[in-house]
Amino acid sequence: MTAVAEIMDYDELLERFDPVLGLEVHVELSTATKMFCGCATDFGAEPNTQVCPVCLGMPGALPVVNGTAVESAIRIGLALNCRVAEWCRFARKNYFYPDMPKNFQTSQYDEPIVFDGYLDVVLDDGETFRVEIERAHMEEDTGKSMHVGGAAGRIHGAEHTLMDYNRAGVPLIEIVTKPIVGAGERAPEVARAYVTALRDLLRSMRVSDVRMDQGSLRCDANVSLSPKGSAEFGTRTETKNVNSLRSVERAVRYEMRRHAGVLTAGGTIVQETRHFDESTASTSAGRPKETAEDYRYFPEPDLVPIAPSNEWIEQLRETLPELPWERRKRVQQDWQLSDEELRDLVNAGALDLVAATVDAGASPAEARSWWVAYLSQQANTQGVELEALAITPEQVARVIELVSEGKLTHKLARQVVDGVLAGKGDPDEVVATEGIEVVSDDSALQAAVDEALAAQPDVADKIRGGKVQAAGAVVGAVMKATQGQADAKRVRELVLAACGQ
Ligand code: ADP
Ligand code: MG
Ligand code: ZN
Repeated sequence: MTAVAEIMDYDELLERFDPVLGLEVHVELSTATKMFCGCATDFGAEPNTQVCPVCLGMPGALPVVNGTAVESAIRIGLALNCRVAEWCRFARKNYFYPDMPKNFQTSQYDEPIVFDGYLDVVLDDGETFRVEIERAHMEEDTGKSMHVGGAAGRIHGAEHTLMDYNRAGVPLIEIVTKPIVGAGERAPEVARAYVTALRDLLRSMRVSDVRMDQGSLRCDANVSLSPKGSAEFGTRTETKNVNSLRSVERAVRYEMRRHAGVLTAGGTIVQETRHFDESTASTSAGRPKETAEDYRYFPEPDLVPIAPSNEWIEQLRETLPELPWERRKRVQQDWQLSDEELRDLVNAGALDLVAATVDAGASPAEARSWWVAYLSQQANTQGVELEALAITPEQVARVIELVSEGKLTHKLARQVVDGVLAGKGDPDEVVATEGIEVVSDDSALQAAVDEALAAQPDVADKIRGGKVQAAGAVVGAVMKATQGQADAKRVRELVLAACGQ
């Protein structure tokens, strides 16, 4: 029996090893039809209602390539600074699995449509890390298995399995990085930042809805360790099922620590797939890794090769939208942000939301302040992404408008936002039903001001003697007494007037 190696402390492993990463990202394209047939691709349809002889692998059924999918693949390649193959083919990757009725996956092997690119990734501190892209190739998705009767939908202990072939044949692009070296302690962060940057890029291009939770963007994380300073790569493991950005980071970190423990205890790393478990943030062994030979790849005889002309490639380049890094640059200029402000905005995942709030009429500074500060805190407390909060950019813009019209103080505005988040309706409805309004009625305020001055006679004397800065303490007391409903500017005027200033 071999001793179970300890998971090594992160800092300790960094003293002994250098990590190497390899990220494989599968993206489901949001084309209307499948890769090789005319079936629809809508997510969540009744099982087996979007199928035909081609995607069910019936004998004699012949595939036809989806032109839009090829265009998307080329456009993705161009956005990733790749070269486009002058000529390439599809290949059959042969293996049996019940979710794949043809018994082979139509993919690309040694002739990917695009290759040799890079993506510059912005890290949390604003630094840029270049991730080199090995290739991106076209393939098709498999169907979905539902294991019934076992725990948590796993195959172990299941009584039977149901098959849904709606997803079989949906176009996929697999984007594979070159080995990522030199990330050191930041390797888990680089992995997360890369997948984030890729997701944002693909979203801006509208080629996929890039939902990790729905599987339209999936990441496999390869990790190996080399002894510190050695240029030779160690044996890698490939962690599957990493279905959130946070999990990408956690899976890489865990595998680094596990490898270090095994290697330091004198053990060897087995090249295998691993399964990431969200609840324990750890991985468990999957299957030993096949080699390419096992798949008996051969060129697909039923499909013609693809030979994109330069003219077509240039036309596709023209269709690229403003890409995320270009947009960030423009926004920084338009809104006059410092590098740090831009970084905070991007890190908060608030760029789209702020832009939409500005489009709805708010000033960039106010919009940014709401999303990056107060609303980010609320999202954090609720444990959800910023965009999942129950408030729209239009509603935030309306709150900002109410403040600028003097109908809400900042404190009241937060109450209104809380009401919207709690599902109590639009800002105007919350204001009406909760009776939230600024007290600017002088007679009501005057009484509170007199009371506050009487309670702090020494401060009142200072103000009378010309120290107008001292008024802040009295204004604060009045705001407190009126539960933030007072108009602070008006209170200050009343305080000064009462002291003859
Ligand atoms: P597979 O068919 O096994 O999935 P791929 O070539 O599709 O292989 O992907 C392997 C990924 O792992 C690539 O991103 C590659 O750069 C990366 N990689 C290769 N060797 C190593 C290694 N020793 N350590 C970490 N990553 C590696
Ligand atoms: Mg692969
Ligand atoms: Zn079909």
